[in-house]
Amino acid sequence: MHIKPERIQRDLENLACFGRLKGGGVSRLAFTSADREARQYLRNALIQQGLSVTQDAVGNMRSRRCGKENLAPVMTGSHLDSVPSGGTFDGTVGIVAALEVIRVLNEQGVETLRPIDIINFSAEESSRFGGSTLGSKAITGRLSPKQLHTYKDKDGLSLYEAMETFGLNPDRLESARIRPGEVYAFIETHIEQGRVLDSLGIPLGVVTSIAAPTRIKVYLVGRADHSGATPMDLRADALVAASEIILGVERIASSEAGSHTVGTVGYSHIEPGVLNVIPGQVELGIDIRDINKESKDLAVNKVISLMEDTGDRRGIQINYEITANETPVTLSAEIVDVLKRAAETLGYSYRLMPSGAGHDAMYMAEITNAGMIFVPSQEGISHNIAEYTPLEDIVKGTEVLLEAIVKLANEK
Ligand SMILES: [Zn+2]
Repeated sequence: MHIKPERIQRDLENLACFGRLKGGGVSRLAFTSADREARQYLRNALIQQGLSVTQDAVGNMRSRRCGKENLAPVMTGSHLDSVPSGGTFDGTVGIVAALEVIRVLNEQGVETLRPIDIINFSAEESSRFGGSTLGSKAITGRLSPKQLHTYKDKDGLSLYEAMETFGLNPDRLESARIRPGEVYAFIETHIEQGRVLDSLGIPLGVVTSIAAPTRIKVYLVGRADHSGATPMDLRADALVAASEIILGVERIASSEAGSHTVGTVGYSHIEPGVLNVIPGQVELGIDIRDINKESKDLAVNKVISLMEDTGDRRGIQINYEITANETPVTLSAEIVDVLKRAAETLGYSYRLMPSGAGHDAMYMAEITNAGMIFVPSQEGISHNIAEYTPLEDIVKGTEVLLEAIVKLANEK
């Protein structure tokens, strides 16, 4: 079965037109006109393959290539939305790979026992509404009707309103659910978004688990006093206290939790932020991730007790809010095995690896056997216009996907 690299290249180039930025890359936020155009391109390409395309209440697009028997389908896909000033490979690679699988099967007249479904998940990126993987959360019942109203974009438009404007029917949220057993297996092809594969010169990753984040917003309140007139022992400097927390997050993630724990303070807002005033208030955003729930919980608890201790010691009032607390996912051992064998059959080297970033596959894993194929991100760059994956690696990833899908789709 022959994959055509030039077709993959053309799809990638064509999709890069929707939301294109002058300096390269794309801004294709969920439910914008650029998202609509990219969806239309995918719809047309699937229709050209003789497939029909449906859209659920929250905009997940699905398309089915029929099997010989009416069994639960094998599903593959990813997402077409991007972050602002994003790259042209994140998400898109998984859609293009899925499309190529269909084309090759059609060209060769290959019939499979089970149907093969293509999916484009809605709103995978959290950039617009502050919540990620919204489409797959709706599928697994993890998006509540209330959240449709509480998730808002920077203009104050709610997810509900954006969906309605996009022609969707968010009141029918529940109808987007897929129940366990309704999908036989799910595989997502995705760029790694880290530098492991690129630095090792390995073209493929078979993903074994997906790390999940806990996110904490921290508010520190001290006292904004004159930087000249206030002696050192009479200060309540919120920024110095915040610094202890920042260094503590690094220390805890590096050496006091699990071997896969990572911790980041991604932002800080300082008030009043003036050279000659002691910082009175600081807000920090902490992101802690792990593939192991126990290690993540351990790190989170250590960070919380560090905050309490720092506040007491320094006379700073520290409040925090846990804005996300997701559970790491172990992907299906059976799918890992199918993907390993596919790579071996094709003679490609691969690495078994965890995913540090979240993906729709982690929700799909709640309802079916789910797996992921990674292709390298040059220099680990992602969520950036400079994101790049060599075509030959995308082709290898697509070949492994094809092999695995055909194998699974012929299982009784
Ligand atoms: Zn992605």
